[in-house]
Amino acid sequence: MPTIVDVQTWVLRAEVPTPFFFAQPGIVTHRSSMVIAITTDDGRIGYGEALCNGHQPADIAAATVDSSLKPLLIGRDPLHTGVLFEECYNRTKDFGMKGAVVGAISAIDIALWDLKGQILGRPVHTLLGGAFRSTLAPYATGFYRVEGGAYPELLAEEAQRHLDAGFTAMKVKIGFGIDSDLRSITAVREAVGDGVRILADANHAYNAGTARRLVRELDDLDVYWLEEPISPEDVDGYRSLVDMGPKLLIAAGENEFSRHGFWPWATTRAVDILQPDLAAAGGFTGVQQIQTLALSAGLALNPHVWGTAIGLVAAIHFLATIPPVPISRAGQEPMLEYDQSSHPFRQHLVEELPTMANGRVMVPDRPGLGITVDRSVLDRFDQKSPVR
Ligand code: CA
Repeated sequence: MPTIVDVQTWVLRAEVPTPFFFAQPGIVTHRSSMVIAITTDDGRIGYGEALCNGHQPADIAAATVDSSLKPLLIGRDPLHTGVLFEECYNRTKDFGMKGAVVGAISAIDIALWDLKGQILGRPVHTLLGGAFRSTLAPYATGFYRVEGGAYPELLAEEAQRHLDAGFTAMKVKIGFGIDSDLRSITAVREAVGDGVRILADANHAYNAGTARRLVRELDDLDVYWLEEPISPEDVDGYRSLVDMGPKLLIAAGENEFSRHGFWPWATTRAVDILQPDLAAAGGFTGVQQIQTLALSAGLALNPHVWGTAIGLVAAIHFLATIPPVPISRAGQEPMLEYDQSSHPFRQHLVEELPTMANGRVMVPDRPGLGITVDRSVLDRFDQKSPVR
């Protein structure tokens, strides 16, 4: 029986070359991530990541692992992913349930599945139940803003760059006032033409009342999905937008966590698309549970991705296993969120960065996550305080 003998965390942080902003207050000056390595007695190492959004420090997830969950993992069998997930959730329930604590559990779960794949000699997507597809359609996430930038002209230029790179879908940041948002979407549509799928992401900039006008106006501009129009606490508000019956799809979930958090979203059909992040909402084990809720409600599940290459590859494995909703010639296929924004260490962290060819991203077939992490990059960007 393989046994866990060590759990190590890194608090990665690096200044971005060009600070940027989106609908939420503040300027993003750094990208951060909590990376974990779980080592077994036979020398194998599994890697995982806890997502850090724009202003989220990686220290919270690292402290959760180091102080609370590491003692629970040492001496255990890494193949027992389900048992360890439930025990980690239960151990932190009274101070966790959401946010960076579930992010820490997600990082552990991703690392355990990486180990499971290495031990059994199979890619994670096979162990999850098998892949429905060997390549994924990506969409470009970008359109973040820089201070003093000329908008919407810069958005049109960026849209052209994504088009030239082979993207046929892209997600535009909105949430700067509805009139401004409409000018942004119109400018991008004019730049890319009719054949490109445009998504809009408001990062919960509005309340349900003001979002009603946004939904109506965007519906006239052929937007495919509207992401996080309102605050994630307002599940009823989301449902009121779906009940308007727009053509566009309402999506949310990057700020929700675990099967318990997603329960009201699924059971009340508050959105059309649930967007848990593998590196935040519960790892493979947790998001597979959320997927069961989504499929039971007839909803699509399309994971959010904004992390390093580790979170990206984890999402790719999971995306491969999501069935079309429903399985039919017209079933809704998941898309890979492919972050094109500034990130100093996202690419350098692993040797095998997923690449796009002919507008598609290949699903890796190597055992585990199928990545080789460059430890020197982890150490270079590590900002963890020395143990006292
Ligand atoms: Ca988003």
